[in-house]
Amino acid sequence: MSPPFGSRLAGKVAVITGAGSGIGLETSVLFASEGAQVVCVDINEKGAAATVEKITALFGEDRAVSVRADVSKEDDVKNMIQLAVSRFGKINVLFNNAGIMHPADDNALTTSEDIWDLTMRINVKGVWWGCKYAIEQMRKTGGGSVINTASFVALRGAATPQLAYTASKGAVLAMTRELAVVHAKENIRFNSLCPGPLRTPLLMEFLNTEEKKNRRLVHVPMGRFGEAIEQAKAALFLASDDSSYMTGTDFVVDGGLCAAY
Ligand code: NAD
Repeated sequence: MSPPFGSRLAGKVAVITGAGSGIGLETSVLFASEGAQVVCVDINEKGAAATVEKITALFGEDRAVSVRADVSKEDDVKNMIQLAVSRFGKINVLFNNAGIMHPADDNALTTSEDIWDLTMRINVKGVWWGCKYAIEQMRKTGGGSVINTASFVALRGAATPQLAYTASKGAVLAMTRELAVVHAKENIRFNSLCPGPLRTPLLMEFLNTEEKKNRRLVHVPMGRFGEAIEQAKAALFLASDDSSYMTGTDFVVDGGLCAAY
């Protein structure tokens, strides 16, 4: 990233989960480049710390802090929000982005209760807990913006079986809409980000053969996987006041996938 940097998040504090890789990593750096102080959260401590190192090298000290948290544990999520407030004084933006897609065969006949429960715990409960503790803080400062990462698979049936994942992302969309409606008058905005298929570790490890990759790309009119930075730019829009009249949306960034039949 090279100067000049922007100021669309100047004076704001953002908490980003899954900040050690993919979308979360790119978004952390982009938010910092736009003036935010960023709390980089990941279960992978080294990944989150590496993101902070990158931000510090680019933008200087006191712009980011790393936190190890497993979003499937309520106490970890509570601590991550408390740490953000004790370090930077407030929370203006929460990006509930951490998620997993279990690599095991995950169709209705083969998926296990363990895979189902783990996926729901991280992808759904983790988002709920993040919202729960962020709302308390955002009320104190008169509002905020919450972005929850869902997926295009919550809007269309996926061609490769990933049932627990798909169900979890559908829950994220539904939960986000309700939160948006309930908290609209408090000026706390909630939007879902629905990425298409991306060239990040999560999907590339799942589509581990050329045949599987090509099978997925058949559905993408642009004919390529998306990049994490393309999602980060959408998250920046949703986080900033540029989207001040948007709440409760399913914000789709998918290379045209959902428009195709
Ligand atoms: P990624 O694997 O590159 O990054 C995910 C990060 O989340 C990792 O750093 C990982 O350590 C962290 N994480 C996993 N479990 C965690 C937990 N329990 N607590 C805290 N952190 C945890 O993946 P990505 O592609 O950047 O995915 C980010 C989000 O985007 C996920 O919610 C994913 O479901 C969603 N998504 C991805 C795609 C895609 O094609 N890659 C498409 C649609 C939606």
